[in-house]
Amino acid sequence: MPPLGLAGLLTPPMCVVCRSGCGRALPLCADCVGELNLAPVIRKSPPPGISEVVSCAPHEGVARALLAAFKFRGLTGLAPLIAGYMADLVGSGPCGQILVPVPAAPGRKRWRGFDPAGELAREIVRADSGFTLADDLLVRRGRGSQRGRRREARLAAPPSIESTGVSPACGFPPPAVSGPSAGCRGGTATLVDDVLTTGGTLTACAGALAGAGIGPVSAVTFTRRL
Ligand SMILES: [Zn+2]
Repeated sequence: MPPLGLAGLLTPPMCVVCRSGCGRALPLCADCVGELNLAPVIRKSPPPGISEVVSCAPHEGVARALLAAFKFRGLTGLAPLIAGYMADLVGSGPCGQILVPVPAAPGRKRWRGFDPAGELAREIVRADSGFTLADDLLVRRGRGSQRGRRREARLAAPPSIESTGVSPACGFPPPAVSGPSAGCRGGTATLVDDVLTTGGTLTACAGALAGAGIGPVSAVTFTRRL
């Protein structure tokens, strides 16, 4: 959580979702934690170009409200909590050992002051040292965010994503590339994003990574719109 200051020390902590009282250890009350823990993990229908996709919860209820608090109220201190749920899934499921955050639209990142997917990927790496962060492999060009666009418009005009082809962060390309499987630690990657909507952005990212010789590409998101 952001620094609370003196006022935060004097007022009892509130759940960031329902605003009822909660302990200081977690920013959620027991009821909201309970609902979040019961949310069904979603593993189905990976978008084209993605070998496997897993999401912690449907984009509704506590999961949706928690994500909104993180993204739109600027509560960046929620990233470790959200990423903790994602780390549990990515550690037991998708195959990629390098984590590649879906790049934010440049204007969106400036407006928000931080990059939600990048923050989550960094926290997943902190939670599970078996992964390497490669937040320098993809860049997003041109159009702004997909947010607010209708499903048909998103599918018809996915964002323009390009690979930089190099990642000092994860050591790609390796000294002797002998094929698609010789990339960062075996050439597999897991994309990280906050929410999966149509899958068009993940597909665009996977295409850019494939162009750089990285694959298969899996993905993990916190929520998924059903
Ligand atoms: Zn609550």
